[in-house]
Amino acid sequence: MNDSEKLLPFFSQLYQETESIEACENNVRKAVAAVAELLHVGKVEIMLNAPRTNLRPEGEHRTLALFYSDNVSKEHIHEMIFSLPDKGKITMLIYPVTSDGFTVDEENVLGVISQAIYTQFSRVIMKGLLTQVVNTDTDTGAYTMDYLVECTAKLMAQHKVDRYGAVFFNIHGFKYVNKVFSYSEGDAILKTYTQRVMCLLEPDEILTRLGGDNYVMLVKLDRMNELIKQVADIRITYQNEHREKNFVFGITAGYSGLAGITEPRDIMKRVSVAFAAARKRGAGNIVEYTEEVQREVMENQAVLSNFVYALENHEFVVYYQPKVNIQEKTMYGAEALVRWVRNGRLVPPVQFIPQLEQEGSIIALDYYVLEEVCKWLRKRIDGGLKPVCISVNFSRRHLEEDDLAKHIVAVIDKYNIDHSYIEIELTESEDFQNFEVMTELVNDLKECGIGTSMDDFGTGFSSLNMIKKVDLHVIKIDKSFIPLETEYMGKEKDLIMFNHIVKMVKELGKKTVAEGVESEKQLDYLRDVGCDIVQGYVFDKPLTEEEFEKRLETGY
Ligand code: C2E
Ligand code: CA
Ligand code: CA
Repeated sequence: MNDSEKLLPFFSQLYQETESIEACENNVRKAVAAVAELLHVGKVEIMLNAPRTNLRPEGEHRTLALFYSDNVSKEHIHEMIFSLPDKGKITMLIYPVTSDGFTVDEENVLGVISQAIYTQFSRVIMKGLLTQVVNTDTDTGAYTMDYLVECTAKLMAQHKVDRYGAVFFNIHGFKYVNKVFSYSEGDAILKTYTQRVMCLLEPDEILTRLGGDNYVMLVKLDRMNELIKQVADIRITYQNEHREKNFVFGITAGYSGLAGITEPRDIMKRVSVAFAAARKRGAGNIVEYTEEVQREVMENQAVLSNFVYALENHEFVVYYQPKVNIQEKTMYGAEALVRWVRNGRLVPPVQFIPQLEQEGSIIALDYYVLEEVCKWLRKRIDGGLKPVCISVNFSRRHLEEDDLAKHIVAVIDKYNIDHSYIEIELTESEDFQNFEVMTELVNDLKECGIGTSMDDFGTGFSSLNMIKKVDLHVIKIDKSFIPLETEYMGKEKDLIMFNHIVKMVKELGKKTVAEGVESEKQLDYLRDVGCDIVQGYVFDKPLTEEEFEKRLETGY
């Protein structure tokens, strides 16, 4: 038998087709074992050292014992070093059986063997790297959705999927980063963030990015709650030449266990539903998928898909809540508040306005309410009755509309109503651009003789700026600022704040309306500080058109 024939068992074992590094290791082990005795090999070790890269955030440092016999000498070790494509290296150590070491012939054969082992390993590693490239989002280093589906399919095949859960999350407040920093800096921060999340995961857990700042992670069920907490509290310090900035990134998230899913893509169905519910509840919420949540989200969908029909079918009705002059107890006017009569049930605005606002249909609804109010005023005037000023809520979504003031005037003029009988309630906007649009709108309306009021004053970000810069006629002080009649911690402070808000608004030449006033005692506070107008249950709840007309006759 010549030398190459002696090596046949080695090569045939080595070149068996393999996919994973583990299977490759196994082949190499068997191959080395087949020729160890022949070549007087006592032990074979391979050290794999790969540096940190985008794809391997932790790098890779492993030593594998491929072959180990009872007789090993630490002298005359045959050592070979090979470079890997990604700057890593493989070091191969072959220990002889005795301290005599290897013969020159053996050394030569070992050289051939080492080279073959290296080629085989690097091929598998390259393959692994390539699949990683295909499955990785190059901007951040997170995996792709396809990979998540693939992993889920594997877990399902292994009947392990019940032990896992998925979390769909969105970074709360990332919009701010893009506003304050350049896009490339924003990208760098996103990448750092992604790596931070990935560091929290164990090897069989994965993070995928869906685009933007939306992620899904597949994690072990018994770690899921703790991981959500950790991800919701990630802090990043970003530094460039001008400044250093610390971020605490919260998340809005929906999560679910995976028990019972019948196909991999079901993961997305569950977590998307939970995420939609979380978003509706507001940024920063974290919601678990349940059947109840599923119903809630479907109900939301139903609101949106039934809206157009409901509007055409006049299912929306306007209620009127009186505003009362506090000193004389006379009617100052009323606020129009919409209700949805759906399948014979009266649905309050909290159950449909947020969805319509998010989707944009609120614009059509607000015009509808304005028109209904104008019709009612026309009817009153035609019937020889005295009209009163009605305020109509206009969502901030209207600020996206061109010629908004013109459209409002057109509706009022269609019914030939004196402009002084309509007031438009606006909520402040945190967005600077909207701030300017709002100023323009208020001025345009003022020129046409239409009054404006700021709703929910004090609850937003820029309330003070708003009354300083925008020429609104009326400030509606939010009910959270009205001191309660009972004694409680911090009441003293509430009284001081309320007192000064009213004073300030008055001195700026605007009217104050206190909202949500429920008791006589509260009425006394308001009178004492000189508040002009009150709206609240203490006088009336929102009334039907009929009830309101009666109230206009009876007075208080
Ligand atoms: P808002 O504009 O701040 O309306 C005042 C809300 O406070 C009304 O709730 C009213 O019923 C309630 N309220 C009045 N007095 C009291 C009180 O003494 N105590 C308490 N606890 N609550 C009181 P409602 O009618 O459920 O409306 C909720 C919100 O829905 C409104 O808040 C407004 O933001 C929105 N909304 C209602 N109708 C429309 C509309 O036509 N268009 C738009 N864009 N939004 C509307
Ligand atoms: Ca309002
Ligand atoms: Ca309000």
